[in-house]
Amino acid sequence: EANTFQNLIGHAKEYGYIFQSSEIYDGLSAVYDYGQNGAQLKKNIRDAWWKTMTQLNDNIVGIDAAIFMHPTTWKASGHVDSFSDPMIDNKDSNKRYRVDHLIEAHAEKLKAEGETQKADALIAQMDRLLAADDLAGVKQLIIDNNMKCSVSSTCNWTDVRQFNLMFSTELGSVTDEASTIYLRPETAQGIFVNFLNVQKTGRMKIPFGIAQTGKAFRNEIVARQFIFRMREFEQMEMQFFIRPGSQKEWYEHWKTERLKWHKEIMGFPTDRLQYHDHVKLAHYADAAVDIEFEFPFGFKELEGIHSRTDYDLGRHQEFSKKKQQYFDTEINQNYVPYVIETSVGLDRLVLATLANAYAEEKWTKEDGSEDSRVVLKIPANLAPTKLAVLPLTKKDGLPDLARELMNECRPAFNCFYEEKDTIGKRYRRMDAVGTPFCVTIDHQTKEDGTVTIRYRDTMTQERIHLNEVKAKVLAAITK
Ligand code: ATP
Repeated sequence: EANTFQNLIGHAKEYGYIFQSSEIYDGLSAVYDYGQNGAQLKKNIRDAWWKTMTQLNDNIVGIDAAIFMHPTTWKASGHVDSFSDPMIDNKDSNKRYRVDHLIEAHAEKLKAEGETQKADALIAQMDRLLAADDLAGVKQLIIDNNMKCSVSSTCNWTDVRQFNLMFSTELGSVTDEASTIYLRPETAQGIFVNFLNVQKTGRMKIPFGIAQTGKAFRNEIVARQFIFRMREFEQMEMQFFIRPGSQKEWYEHWKTERLKWHKEIMGFPTDRLQYHDHVKLAHYADAAVDIEFEFPFGFKELEGIHSRTDYDLGRHQEFSKKKQQYFDTEINQNYVPYVIETSVGLDRLVLATLANAYAEEKWTKEDGSEDSRVVLKIPANLAPTKLAVLPLTKKDGLPDLARELMNECRPAFNCFYEEKDTIGKRYRRMDAVGTPFCVTIDHQTKEDGTVTIRYRDTMTQERIHLNEVKAKVLAAITK
C-alpha cells in the first residue's frame, strides 16, 4: 500500500499532473503545483461540480468572491478566536505536532499491535480532553502513554498551545495606517456576506443555494500526505439557505445527494466511500457528517456536510449591524435563514481520482511471455485528454487524415496527436497519462475510411468509420 502510494506520487510527477512547488529551490512544504494534465483534470472536476450545482438545479447560483475580506468578517465568523489547532513542540528536534495527529498515530500503532481496545480508549480520552479544552490534560496523556517522537525516546515536550491557522498580511502601503487582513481559510464567508446581494438581485426564493469555488489558505502543520493536506488549496462550497425548522430534512437531502454525486459523476466505487458522523460538533453546527474516501492511507475526509443553523448570518448581522433577514411571503414572516453547507476539497478530489484510477497491471500474453503496464483509469468525463489520434506511419498521407480527424474533434473535446514511436509504445504512454480512447489511422483508412479505436481500460480494439469517432467519444464523456 505504502509503496503504491509512493509510486502514485512519482507517476503524478512523471506524467505532468502534480509537481512540488518551487521544486528547483527544494520545494515549499505542503504546497504543490498542477502540471499540464493535473490542471486540466482539476478543471474538469471543478466544472463537473459547478454544472451539478448551478446548471442542474433551478435554485442554486454561483458567485466568485474575493480572497481578501474585511477583517471583521473573521471576527464575526469565529475564526480569529477559535480557528486553531492544539499543537505541541518537541524541544529536542524543534518539531511541531498537531496533538490529535500525534495521538491518532499512536493509536494506529497500538491497533497494529493488536491493542484495539487500548487504542479506542485513547482516542475517546483525547476527544473528551479536547472538548473540555483541557490542554494540560492532553499533554499528560501524551506523556503517560510514552508517545515517541522521531529523535529521542524520552521526549522533551513543551506545553500544548493553540495555534491559529490563518495567514495574515498587511493591507495598504507602509506609510498608510497598516491593517491586518487574512487570506481566507474557507470560501464560505464570501457567500454569507453576499447573501442579500444575491437574494435581492437574483430574486431568489428560499430555499435556494449559492455556490463558489476558490482558493483557501491554512497554516497547517503537516505530516507528509501529498495533496491531501495543503497550505494553499481549493474548496468548492455551497450554502443552502432554508427556513428555520427545515434543517433536518435538507441536511438529509444534501447528505444523500452528495454521496450520489461522488459515485455517479466521480465514479468512486461504493465500498471506497463512507459517512462519518461528527460526535464533537463545531461551534456553528447542529449536525455534521463527513463523506470519507478510502485514500491509500485509510478512510479520510473528502467532503463535509454541515447544518450551520443561523450562526453565520446571525453573527454577520450582529457585527455589521445590517439586517440579514428574508421575508418569507408564504408564511408572512421575517427571519434569519438557516443554512446547510456542502464543502468539498478540490485537491482531495484530484488525489482520490488518481488513487482510484492508478493501476499496475501484469498479465501473460498468448505466446506465454509476460507483459505489464501502468494505467490511469480516470473516468472519461474527467480525463484531461479524451482522444489520441495516431497515424500508423509518418508517410503515405496518413498524418493528413489524422489531422483532419483532429480538426473535426478538437472544438468538442481535448485531443492529442502523436506520430513518433511504435503504436504499442504510444498506447502505453496514453494508458499512463489516462487517455480513454486512441484512434489509429492506417493504410486501410485510405481505402474504406475505417480506423482502429482502442479502449484504455480493456485494451480491446474495434474497427469503426472515421465519421463515427467524434460521436462515440462525445457519448462517453457526456454526463
Ligand atoms: P480536516 O479535518 O481534514 O483538517 P476540516 O474538517 O478542517 O478538514 P473543513 O473545514 O470542513 O475541513 O473543509 C472542508 C473541506 O475542505 C474538507 O472536507 C477538505 O476536503 C478540504 N480541506 C480542508 N483543509 C484542507 C487542506 N489543508 N488541504 C486540502 N484540502 C483541505
